[in-house]
Amino acid sequence: MSAPILRIAIPSPLRRLFDYLPPPQMSAPAIPGQRYLLPFGRSTTVGILVDVASESALAMEKLRPALRQLDAEPVFDPALLGLLRWCSDYYHHPPGEVFAAALPVLLRQDRPATVNGILRWQASEAGRQQELATLARAPKQQALLRQLQQHGPLDASQLNQALDGWRAPMKRLLELGLVLEESSPCLPAYSGPRDRPPALNPAQQAAVDAILASQGEYAALLLEGVTGSGKTEVYLHGIAALLTAGRQVLVLVPEIGLTPQLFQRFAERFDCPIALLHSGLNDQERLCAWSMARSGEAGIVIGTRSAIFTPLPRLGLIIVDEEHDASFKQQEGFRYSGRDLAVVRARRENLPVVLGSATPSLESLANQQCERYQWLQLPERAGGASAPALRLLDVRSQRMDEGLSAPLQSAMRHHLSQGGQVLLFLNRRGFAPTLLCHECGWVSHCQRCDAHLTYYARSTRMRCHHCGSEQRVPAQCPDCGSPDLRPLGQGTERLEQALQRDFAEFGIVRIDRDSTRRKGAMDGILEGIHDNQHRILVGTQMLAKGHHFPNVSLVGIIDADQGLFSQDFRASERMAQLIVQVAGRAGRAERPGEVLIQTHAPDHPLLRRLVEQDYRAFAEAALAERHEAAMPPYSHLALLRAEAVALHQPMDFLQEVAGLARALGIPGVHILGPVPALMERRAGRYRAQLLFQAEQRAPLHQLLQQLMSQLETLKSARKTRWSLDVDPVELY
Ligand code: ADP
Ligand code: ZN
Ligand code: ZN
Repeated sequence: MSAPILRIAIPSPLRRLFDYLPPPQMSAPAIPGQRYLLPFGRSTTVGILVDVASESALAMEKLRPALRQLDAEPVFDPALLGLLRWCSDYYHHPPGEVFAAALPVLLRQDRPATVNGILRWQASEAGRQQELATLARAPKQQALLRQLQQHGPLDASQLNQALDGWRAPMKRLLELGLVLEESSPCLPAYSGPRDRPPALNPAQQAAVDAILASQGEYAALLLEGVTGSGKTEVYLHGIAALLTAGRQVLVLVPEIGLTPQLFQRFAERFDCPIALLHSGLNDQERLCAWSMARSGEAGIVIGTRSAIFTPLPRLGLIIVDEEHDASFKQQEGFRYSGRDLAVVRARRENLPVVLGSATPSLESLANQQCERYQWLQLPERAGGASAPALRLLDVRSQRMDEGLSAPLQSAMRHHLSQGGQVLLFLNRRGFAPTLLCHECGWVSHCQRCDAHLTYYARSTRMRCHHCGSEQRVPAQCPDCGSPDLRPLGQGTERLEQALQRDFAEFGIVRIDRDSTRRKGAMDGILEGIHDNQHRILVGTQMLAKGHHFPNVSLVGIIDADQGLFSQDFRASERMAQLIVQVAGRAGRAERPGEVLIQTHAPDHPLLRRLVEQDYRAFAEAALAERHEAAMPPYSHLALLRAEAVALHQPMDFLQEVAGLARALGIPGVHILGPVPALMERRAGRYRAQLLFQAEQRAPLHQLLQQLMSQLETLKSARKTRWSLDVDPVELY
């Protein structure tokens, strides 16, 4: 019998598997999901065995043997392997890149897949006393010991960043007794107090019952309830039952900011190891958490979108919290939706999946309306507090003082005098979106993008929010030399400064990506808010996420119009979600909240529905609009983006692709474009896009399937950087 052929996924832009012969020695039979070390071109790479075949399309003598089998136990079980293959097909993305994205970074290298703890090293007593000068003749040891003397225990990832080739000197320092090695457990330990679960209200009980009734079979459940209605408590009860039944639970959350709080709440409730997987981990910690999930030791895994690829041998339930959040979508490389894959994985593995939100995405609402998803509703706030009242402030022809209307200012004074806190939401950071010459009309433009430079008053700099380039504010207009340069428009920094004039005594704090960049800054800000030192909170959408501000009694939405008049068909959905989410931060406890929304379009039908009725009513009207326009969820989209340094290349390339696509003649798919991107130039590259739209998925995927294989061979494809985005969330 001839040797089996190993069909392997290798990180490469090619949309296919690669055939290899088995390595000279195999410690275990070839099982799909194992990693192999492979010769690839002139170097080596790590690939995943996807299939074992009996023959290859290539001639036998062309096949090279793998160098080594890296795992006896597959790193991906058959279910996960199937999901990844499905992803590669559905997103039309190269399988090797899909598999690589699903693996912790360290396992894309020649390293063992099992870890028992995180090794850390620190200077011993003798090592701390050691004069560094005595090691002058061993400079590597000297540098390493200096690191360890200056910084506490360090792990391998930290040492990799600090020093090259530290392992040999470490060995020597260990022998000399100058360094201590310790192994700490993989998962964060919690030894604080445990809480007791509250008795559920009837709506919560019904939700938990529905989840548990679906154990062991596929079901998608949309859990809808305003902030504070007790969704998390429903998750916790569901999880408790699953853990008792010996199953694991996967909880997906939007952003790293949310994980610590959620972890605390889970840790207080459950006496089982909890693995956290988010972008704040270093490679070693990530591998550790991943392997605890894979071994089954971790009962609960909480993670951001990529955690959907975690191996979980006893998985019994998936929860997606804040399912509407755009951060579940990966926006570069392998562009998957963690939320959508949660549903796919649940279906493939026969489990229930719970999608929770106060403001469900229109996609999920449409799925619920056609009964693909069960609807679980939590109508009231669990603690009995009433929902905040939304009110529109018509600011047309009102005198605005730095973006604040008189009615908003007097409402602020009223709430502050009653002891409440005020939250002002403005989704634009910086001082002003642009700088304008009052003399000649010059405006600050980014040299590399078709975009304005945002003006930052405090640092007197201008920064591009699209490519990150930065420059000093000129003293005079570069065109006419006038010194009369004025900030145009308003950002959070400007609002904060304006408030300092009349409201300084109340303590003003700004919360945006600029003010929270420094590690630990957010914690400091949150503390100041909870201690009532800051009574006016100014911020961007960061305010809408996760944090609870129990003393906030007034929310002001500075500018609702941004979301109403945008090119992006999802803009109004996002604005409504933001308003409701921000509003949900207020009036949490016994204080009833008030929400004032400044707008120039008080008659806008969607806005009125939101304010006079609720998010559901808004969503129904917005869905009707989508239906009319044949936009998702009533159609399916795929967007092919291209960019290049030369102006014409992306358009030329996409013209050619559009021609090929039309020639395929697949009915039911509209081919729209190509057109230059809304911001045509970004970071020095010209960008264009081609949109595919279809009412049914099948013809769309049939077209993409055929098109992608042709694309790889196009000459013009090599001159442009291109990517396909299936189910894009952003069209521009
Ligand atoms: P959500 O996740 O929808 O924002 P939570 O589950 O966090 O809501 O609940 C909001 C608050 O109400 C929390 O402090 C929680 O402990 C409390 N809570 C939730 N359910 C109950 C209940 N059945 N009885 C008493 N308190 C509850
Ligand atoms: Zn000028
Ligand atoms: Zn730029």
